[in-house]
Amino acid sequence: MSESELGFSSRAIHAGQEPDASTGAVVTPIYQTSTYKQDGIGGFRGGYEYSRSANPTRTALETGFAALEGGSRGFAFASGLAAQDTLLRAALAPGDHIVVPSDAYGGTYRLVNKVLTHWGVEHSIATIADLDSVRAAIRPTTKIIWVETPTNPLLGIADIEALAALAHEHDALLVVDNTFASPYLQQPLALGADVVTHSTTKYCGGHSDVVGGAVVVGRDITVPGFADLEERVAFHQNSMGAVAGPFDAWLVQRGLKTLAVRMEQHCTNAEVVADFLTGHRGVAQVLYPGLPEHPGHDVAARQMKRFGGMVSFRVAAGEDVAIKICAETQLFTLGESLGGVESLIEHPARMTHASVVGTELEVPGDLIRLSVGIEDVDDLVADLAQALDRLT
Ligand SMILES: *Cc1c(COP(=O)(O)O)cnc(C)c1O
Repeated sequence: MSESELGFSSRAIHAGQEPDASTGAVVTPIYQTSTYKQDGIGGFRGGYEYSRSANPTRTALETGFAALEGGSRGFAFASGLAAQDTLLRAALAPGDHIVVPSDAYGGTYRLVNKVLTHWGVEHSIATIADLDSVRAAIRPTTKIIWVETPTNPLLGIADIEALAALAHEHDALLVVDNTFASPYLQQPLALGADVVTHSTTKYCGGHSDVVGGAVVVGRDITVPGFADLEERVAFHQNSMGAVAGPFDAWLVQRGLKTLAVRMEQHCTNAEVVADFLTGHRGVAQVLYPGLPEHPGHDVAARQMKRFGGMVSFRVAAGEDVAIKICAETQLFTLGESLGGVESLIEHPARMTHASVVGTELEVPGDLIRLSVGIEDVDDLVADLAQALDRLT
Protein backbone atom coordinates (compact mmCIF):
# COMPACT_ATOMS: atom_id res chain seq x y z
CA MET A 1 0.00 0.00 0.00
CA SER A 2 1.39 3.40 -0.88
CA GLU A 3 1.49 5.93 1.91
CA SER A 4 -1.00 8.27 0.26
CA GLU A 5 -3.66 5.53 0.32
CA LEU A 6 -3.40 5.12 4.08
CA GLY A 7 -5.81 6.79 6.47
CA PHE A 8 -4.80 9.60 8.80
CA SER A 9 -3.93 7.53 11.87
CA SER A 10 -2.03 4.93 9.86
CA ARG A 11 0.11 7.71 8.44
CA ALA A 12 0.51 9.30 11.89
CA ILE A 13 1.75 6.01 13.30
CA HIS A 14 3.88 4.85 10.37
CA ALA A 15 4.98 7.64 8.01
CA GLY A 16 8.73 8.13 8.29
CA GLN A 17 8.91 5.54 11.05
CA GLU A 18 10.26 2.35 9.54
CA PRO A 19 11.72 0.10 12.26
CA ASP A 20 15.30 1.24 12.96
CA ALA A 21 17.66 -0.18 10.33
CA SER A 22 20.39 -1.22 12.76
CA THR A 23 18.36 -2.74 15.63
CA GLY A 24 14.78 -3.16 14.47
CA ALA A 25 13.60 -0.77 17.21
CA VAL A 26 9.92 -0.20 16.49
CA VAL A 27 10.01 3.35 17.77
CA THR A 28 12.41 5.76 16.07
CA PRO A 29 15.18 6.23 18.66
CA ILE A 30 16.14 9.59 20.14
CA TYR A 31 19.36 10.14 18.22
CA GLN A 32 20.94 12.33 20.88
CA THR A 33 24.04 13.08 18.85
CA SER A 34 25.49 16.25 17.35
CA THR A 35 27.70 14.63 14.72
CA TYR A 36 28.15 11.45 12.64
CA LYS A 37 31.14 9.30 11.62
CA GLN A 38 32.03 9.76 7.96
CA ASP A 39 33.24 6.78 5.94
CA GLY A 40 36.03 8.77 4.31
CA ILE A 41 35.67 12.52 3.84
CA GLY A 42 32.13 13.28 2.65
CA GLY A 43 31.06 9.65 3.08
CA PHE A 44 27.87 10.37 4.99
CA ARG A 45 25.74 7.46 6.20
CA GLY A 46 22.18 8.17 5.11
CA GLY A 47 23.15 11.78 4.41
CA TYR A 48 23.74 12.64 8.08
CA GLU A 49 26.59 15.05 8.70
CA TYR A 50 25.73 17.34 11.62
CA SER A 51 22.51 17.55 13.65
CA ARG A 52 21.65 21.16 12.87
CA SER A 53 21.47 20.16 9.21
CA ALA A 54 19.67 16.86 9.83
CA ASN A 55 19.05 14.35 12.61
CA PRO A 56 17.23 11.01 12.12
CA THR A 57 14.70 11.63 14.91
CA ARG A 58 13.85 15.00 13.41
CA THR A 59 13.72 13.53 9.90
CA ALA A 60 11.13 11.00 11.08
CA LEU A 61 8.95 13.80 12.46
CA GLU A 62 9.40 15.98 9.37
CA THR A 63 8.43 13.08 7.10
CA GLY A 64 5.38 12.45 9.26
CA PHE A 65 4.27 16.09 9.06
CA ALA A 66 4.55 16.15 5.28
CA ALA A 67 2.43 12.97 5.12
CA LEU A 68 -0.25 14.29 7.52
CA GLU A 69 -0.64 17.66 5.79
CA GLY A 70 -0.23 16.26 2.28
CA GLY A 71 2.74 18.51 1.54
CA SER A 72 5.97 18.02 -0.34
CA ARG A 73 8.21 18.48 2.68
CA GLY A 74 7.99 19.12 6.42
CA PHE A 75 10.39 21.01 8.68
CA ALA A 76 10.52 20.84 12.48
CA PHE A 77 11.58 23.76 14.64
CA ALA A 78 12.34 24.64 18.25
CA SER A 79 9.02 26.52 18.60
CA GLY A 80 6.03 27.64 16.58
CA LEU A 81 7.46 31.15 16.35
CA ALA A 82 10.84 29.83 15.21
CA ALA A 83 8.97 28.00 12.44
CA GLN A 84 7.09 31.16 11.45
CA ASP A 85 10.20 33.35 11.57
CA THR A 86 12.15 30.93 9.39
CA LEU A 87 9.32 30.71 6.88
CA LEU A 88 8.78 34.48 6.75
CA ARG A 89 12.46 35.25 6.28
CA ALA A 90 12.79 32.53 3.66
CA ALA A 91 9.82 33.89 1.71
CA LEU A 92 10.06 37.67 2.13
CA ALA A 93 12.55 40.42 1.27
CA PRO A 94 12.68 44.11 2.28
CA GLY A 95 9.84 46.01 0.60
CA ASP A 96 7.53 42.99 0.59
CA HIS A 97 4.14 43.19 2.27
CA ILE A 98 2.13 40.69 4.31
CA VAL A 99 -1.55 40.70 5.26
CA VAL A 100 -2.08 39.62 8.88
CA PRO A 101 -5.39 38.64 10.52
CA SER A 102 -6.93 41.07 13.00
CA ASP A 103 -7.03 38.35 15.64
CA ALA A 104 -3.74 36.69 14.83
CA TYR A 105 -1.89 34.85 17.56
CA GLY A 106 -0.25 37.66 19.58
CA GLY A 107 3.25 36.28 19.08
CA THR A 108 2.79 36.15 15.32
CA TYR A 109 1.67 39.76 15.27
CA ARG A 110 4.61 40.75 17.49
CA LEU A 111 7.02 38.97 15.13
CA VAL A 112 5.61 40.85 12.13
CA ASN A 113 5.09 44.21 13.86
CA LYS A 114 8.12 44.42 16.13
CA VAL A 115 10.78 42.28 14.42
CA LEU A 116 10.18 42.00 10.67
CA THR A 117 9.30 45.71 10.43
CA HIS A 118 12.95 46.48 11.24
CA TRP A 119 13.99 44.37 8.27
CA GLY A 120 11.81 46.32 5.85
CA VAL A 121 8.79 44.02 5.69
CA GLU A 122 5.49 45.91 5.67
CA HIS A 123 2.14 44.65 6.89
CA SER A 124 -1.57 45.47 7.01
CA ILE A 125 -4.27 44.00 9.19
CA ALA A 126 -7.47 42.50 7.79
CA THR A 127 -10.56 40.81 9.18
CA ILE A 128 -9.76 37.40 7.83
CA ALA A 129 -13.36 36.15 7.92
CA ASP A 130 -14.31 38.95 5.51
CA LEU A 131 -12.94 38.55 1.96
CA ASP A 132 -13.53 42.23 1.13
CA SER A 133 -11.44 43.29 4.09
CA VAL A 134 -8.61 41.03 2.94
CA ARG A 135 -8.93 42.23 -0.65
CA ALA A 136 -8.74 45.85 0.50
CA ALA A 137 -5.53 45.13 2.43
CA ILE A 138 -3.68 43.69 -0.57
CA ARG A 139 -1.00 45.88 -2.19
CA PRO A 140 1.08 45.34 -5.34
CA THR A 141 3.94 44.25 -3.04
CA THR A 142 1.86 41.70 -1.09
CA LYS A 143 3.64 38.35 -1.07
CA ILE A 144 1.83 36.55 1.75
CA ILE A 145 -1.70 36.40 3.09
CA TRP A 146 -1.45 34.91 6.57
CA VAL A 147 -4.43 33.06 7.96
CA GLU A 148 -5.34 31.39 11.20
CA THR A 149 -8.57 29.45 11.34
CA PRO A 150 -10.12 29.02 13.82
CA THR A 151 -8.59 32.21 15.22
CA ASN A 152 -7.27 32.78 18.69
CA PRO A 153 -9.04 33.67 20.95
CA LEU A 154 -12.19 34.80 19.10
CA LEU A 155 -12.60 31.57 17.10
CA GLY A 156 -13.32 33.34 13.84
CA ILE A 157 -13.38 31.19 10.72
CA ALA A 158 -11.58 32.02 7.47
CA ASP A 159 -12.60 30.44 4.18
CA ILE A 160 -9.32 28.81 3.13
CA GLU A 161 -10.44 27.95 -0.39
CA ALA A 162 -11.68 31.47 -1.14
CA LEU A 163 -8.59 33.08 0.39
CA ALA A 164 -6.28 30.81 -1.62
CA ALA A 165 -8.01 31.92 -4.82
CA LEU A 166 -7.73 35.58 -3.77
CA ALA A 167 -4.04 35.21 -2.85
CA HIS A 168 -3.21 33.48 -6.12
CA GLU A 169 -5.07 36.09 -8.14
CA HIS A 170 -2.58 38.59 -6.66
CA ASP A 171 0.51 36.35 -6.97
CA ALA A 172 0.75 35.94 -3.22
CA LEU A 173 1.14 32.84 -1.06
CA LEU A 174 -1.60 31.71 1.29
CA VAL A 175 -0.03 30.57 4.56
CA VAL A 176 -2.28 28.87 7.13
CA ASP A 177 -1.34 28.59 10.79
CA ASN A 178 -3.15 25.30 11.41
CA THR A 179 -2.38 25.09 15.12
CA PHE A 180 -5.96 25.36 16.42
CA ALA A 181 -7.45 22.76 14.09
CA SER A 182 -4.47 20.37 13.89
CA PRO A 183 -3.86 18.33 10.73
CA TYR A 184 -6.52 15.86 11.86
CA LEU A 185 -9.40 18.33 11.63
CA GLN A 186 -8.22 20.45 8.71
CA GLN A 187 -5.77 20.05 5.84
CA PRO A 188 -5.28 23.51 4.29
CA LEU A 189 -3.00 22.39 1.45
CA ALA A 190 -5.82 20.29 0.01
CA LEU A 191 -7.98 23.45 0.07
CA GLY A 192 -5.46 25.42 -1.99
CA ALA A 193 -3.13 26.91 0.64
CA ASP A 194 0.60 26.95 -0.19
CA VAL A 195 2.17 26.53 3.23
CA VAL A 196 1.02 25.32 6.65
CA THR A 197 2.60 26.20 9.99
CA HIS A 198 2.06 24.69 13.41
CA SER A 199 2.88 25.35 16.98
CA THR A 200 3.39 21.67 17.81
CA THR A 201 3.41 22.79 21.44
CA LYS A 202 -0.37 22.56 21.24
CA TYR A 203 -2.49 19.66 19.85
CA CYS A 204 0.30 17.93 17.90
CA GLY A 205 2.42 17.42 21.03
CA GLY A 206 -0.78 17.30 23.02
CA HIS A 207 0.58 16.70 26.52
CA SER A 208 1.89 20.15 27.53
CA ASP A 209 5.41 18.79 27.81
CA VAL A 210 7.20 20.20 24.77
CA VAL A 211 7.60 23.45 22.82
CA GLY A 212 7.97 23.03 19.07
CA GLY A 213 6.92 24.16 15.62
CA ALA A 214 6.56 22.93 12.09
CA VAL A 215 6.32 24.20 8.53
CA VAL A 216 4.92 22.10 5.70
CA VAL A 217 5.42 23.37 2.16
CA GLY A 218 2.81 22.34 -0.41
CA ARG A 219 3.45 20.46 -3.63
CA ASP A 220 3.97 22.31 -6.90
CA ILE A 221 3.68 25.91 -5.76
CA THR A 222 2.63 27.99 -8.77
CA VAL A 223 2.85 31.48 -7.27
CA PRO A 224 5.47 33.33 -9.33
CA GLY A 225 8.82 33.54 -7.57
CA PHE A 226 8.04 30.77 -5.06
CA ALA A 227 8.57 27.55 -7.04
CA ASP A 228 11.75 26.98 -4.99
CA LEU A 229 10.15 27.76 -1.59
CA GLU A 230 10.90 24.28 -0.25
CA GLU A 231 14.63 24.72 -0.94
CA ARG A 232 14.56 28.20 0.54
CA VAL A 233 12.96 26.98 3.77
CA ALA A 234 15.48 24.11 3.95
CA PHE A 235 18.35 26.55 3.44
CA HIS A 236 17.02 28.95 6.07
CA GLN A 237 16.30 26.16 8.56
CA ASN A 238 19.96 25.16 8.41
CA SER A 239 21.30 28.70 8.13
CA MET A 240 19.25 30.09 11.02
CA GLY A 241 19.42 26.89 13.04
CA ALA A 242 16.22 27.10 15.12
CA VAL A 243 15.70 23.35 14.78
CA ALA A 244 13.80 20.93 17.00
CA GLY A 245 16.19 18.92 19.18
CA PRO A 246 16.01 15.12 19.02
CA PHE A 247 14.11 14.64 22.29
CA ASP A 248 11.60 17.37 21.45
CA ALA A 249 11.11 15.90 17.96
CA TRP A 250 10.52 12.49 19.54
CA LEU A 251 7.92 13.88 21.98
CA VAL A 252 5.99 15.59 19.18
CA GLN A 253 6.05 12.42 17.10
CA ARG A 254 4.75 10.44 20.06
CA GLY A 255 1.95 12.98 20.36
CA LEU A 256 1.02 12.78 16.68
CA LYS A 257 0.40 9.03 16.93
CA THR A 258 -2.63 9.64 19.16
CA LEU A 259 -3.74 12.92 17.57
CA ALA A 260 -6.87 11.47 15.97
CA VAL A 261 -8.28 9.86 19.12
CA ARG A 262 -7.41 12.87 21.25
CA MET A 263 -8.99 15.34 18.80
CA GLU A 264 -12.20 13.33 18.66
CA GLN A 265 -12.49 13.53 22.45
CA HIS A 266 -11.47 17.23 22.56
CA CYS A 267 -14.25 17.95 20.04
CA THR A 268 -16.87 15.88 21.86
CA ASN A 269 -16.06 17.53 25.19
CA ALA A 270 -15.97 21.03 23.66
CA GLU A 271 -19.41 20.53 22.11
CA VAL A 272 -20.86 19.59 25.51
CA VAL A 273 -19.13 22.53 27.22
CA ALA A 274 -20.34 24.96 24.52
CA ASP A 275 -23.91 23.72 24.98
CA PHE A 276 -23.69 24.11 28.74
CA LEU A 277 -22.34 27.66 28.44
CA THR A 278 -24.97 28.61 25.87
CA GLY A 279 -27.67 27.77 28.40
CA HIS A 280 -26.11 29.59 31.36
CA ARG A 281 -27.63 32.91 32.48
CA GLY A 282 -24.21 34.41 33.32
CA VAL A 283 -22.87 33.95 29.80
CA ALA A 284 -23.50 36.71 27.23
CA GLN A 285 -22.09 34.91 24.18
CA VAL A 286 -20.42 31.61 23.36
CA LEU A 287 -17.85 31.58 20.56
CA TYR A 288 -17.59 28.09 19.12
CA PRO A 289 -17.67 27.30 15.38
CA GLY A 290 -19.73 24.18 16.08
CA LEU A 291 -22.73 26.27 17.13
CA PRO A 292 -25.15 26.83 14.22
CA GLU A 293 -25.43 30.54 15.11
CA HIS A 294 -21.65 31.06 14.76
CA PRO A 295 -21.08 33.24 11.66
CA GLY A 296 -18.40 30.87 10.37
CA HIS A 297 -20.32 27.67 11.06
CA ASP A 298 -21.04 26.73 7.45
CA VAL A 299 -17.50 27.37 6.27
CA ALA A 300 -16.11 25.46 9.25
CA ALA A 301 -18.45 22.55 8.53
CA ARG A 302 -17.14 22.48 4.97
CA GLN A 303 -13.43 22.68 5.66
CA MET A 304 -13.05 21.00 9.07
CA LYS A 305 -13.78 17.43 10.10
CA ARG A 306 -15.19 18.65 13.42
CA PHE A 307 -15.07 21.98 15.26
CA GLY A 308 -12.11 21.67 17.62
CA GLY A 309 -11.45 21.82 21.33
CA MET A 310 -11.29 25.59 21.90
CA VAL A 311 -14.28 27.45 23.30
CA SER A 312 -14.39 31.14 24.23
CA PHE A 313 -17.21 32.97 25.99
CA ARG A 314 -18.11 36.44 27.15
CA VAL A 315 -19.24 36.99 30.71
CA ALA A 316 -22.41 39.07 30.99
CA ALA A 317 -21.25 40.76 34.21
CA GLY A 318 -18.04 42.02 32.58
CA GLU A 319 -14.28 41.90 33.01
CA ASP A 320 -13.96 41.80 36.81
CA VAL A 321 -16.23 38.78 37.08
CA ALA A 322 -14.49 37.11 34.15
CA ILE A 323 -11.18 37.45 35.99
CA LYS A 324 -12.72 35.96 39.16
CA ILE A 325 -14.12 32.98 37.25
CA CYS A 326 -10.65 32.19 35.91
CA ALA A 327 -9.39 31.93 39.48
CA GLU A 328 -12.28 29.79 40.73
CA THR A 329 -12.19 26.70 38.53
CA GLN A 330 -10.38 23.65 39.83
CA LEU A 331 -10.22 21.10 37.03
CA PHE A 332 -9.70 23.86 34.47
CA THR A 333 -6.19 25.03 35.33
CA LEU A 334 -5.47 28.74 35.01
CA GLY A 335 -2.70 28.93 32.46
CA GLU A 336 -1.57 29.98 29.01
CA SER A 337 -1.17 27.60 26.09
CA LEU A 338 -3.72 25.08 24.84
CA GLY A 339 -4.17 21.75 23.15
CA GLY A 340 -3.01 19.47 25.97
CA VAL A 341 -4.99 16.59 27.48
CA GLU A 342 -5.72 18.74 30.53
CA SER A 343 -8.26 21.56 30.43
CA LEU A 344 -7.02 25.12 30.74
CA ILE A 345 -8.79 28.42 31.37
CA GLU A 346 -7.41 31.87 30.71
CA HIS A 347 -8.24 35.56 30.39
CA PRO A 348 -6.85 36.60 26.99
CA ALA A 349 -6.87 40.37 27.54
CA ARG A 350 -4.61 40.06 30.60
CA MET A 351 -2.68 36.94 29.64
CA THR A 352 -2.05 35.60 26.11
CA HIS A 353 -3.14 38.80 24.39
CA ALA A 354 -1.80 41.38 26.86
CA SER A 355 0.82 42.37 24.27
CA VAL A 356 -1.84 43.52 21.79
CA VAL A 357 -3.84 45.76 24.18
CA GLY A 358 -4.18 49.18 22.58
CA THR A 359 -3.70 47.82 19.04
CA GLU A 360 -6.21 46.75 16.42
CA LEU A 361 -5.86 43.22 17.80
CA GLU A 362 -7.16 44.06 21.29
CA VAL A 363 -9.66 41.51 22.61
CA PRO A 364 -12.65 42.21 24.91
CA GLY A 365 -12.02 42.18 28.65
CA ASP A 366 -15.09 40.06 29.41
CA LEU A 367 -13.72 37.19 27.31
CA ILE A 368 -12.62 33.83 28.76
CA ARG A 369 -10.88 31.20 26.64
CA LEU A 370 -11.08 27.50 27.41
CA SER A 371 -8.86 24.78 26.07
CA VAL A 372 -11.19 21.86 26.69
CA GLY A 373 -9.18 18.77 27.60
CA ILE A 374 -10.07 15.11 27.49
CA GLU A 375 -11.05 14.62 31.13
CA ASP A 376 -14.56 13.26 31.83
CA VAL A 377 -16.86 15.90 30.44
CA ASP A 378 -19.32 15.73 33.34
CA ASP A 379 -16.51 16.78 35.66
CA LEU A 380 -15.58 19.64 33.35
CA VAL A 381 -19.14 20.94 33.20
CA ALA A 382 -19.54 20.60 36.99
CA ASP A 383 -16.36 22.62 37.48
CA LEU A 384 -17.56 25.46 35.24
CA ALA A 385 -21.01 25.32 36.81
CA GLN A 386 -19.74 25.77 40.36
CA ALA A 387 -17.71 28.83 39.37
CA LEU A 388 -20.39 30.40 37.15
CA ASP A 389 -23.28 29.70 39.52
CA ARG A 390 -21.49 31.37 42.40
CA LEU A 391 -20.06 34.37 40.57
CA THR A 392 -22.75 35.28 38.05
C1 LIG B 1 1.16 28.96 20.45
C2 LIG B 1 0.87 29.44 19.08
C3 LIG B 1 1.89 29.91 18.25
C4 LIG B 1 3.31 30.04 18.71
O1 LIG B 1 3.92 28.83 18.97
P1 LIG B 1 5.07 28.59 20.08
O2 LIG B 1 5.28 27.13 20.04
O3 LIG B 1 4.54 29.11 21.39
O4 LIG B 1 6.25 29.39 19.63
C5 LIG B 1 1.55 30.29 16.96
N1 LIG B 1 0.27 30.23 16.52
C6 LIG B 1 -0.73 29.80 17.30
C7 LIG B 1 -2.12 29.77 16.76
C8 LIG B 1 -0.47 29.39 18.60
O5 LIG B 1 -1.49 28.98 19.37
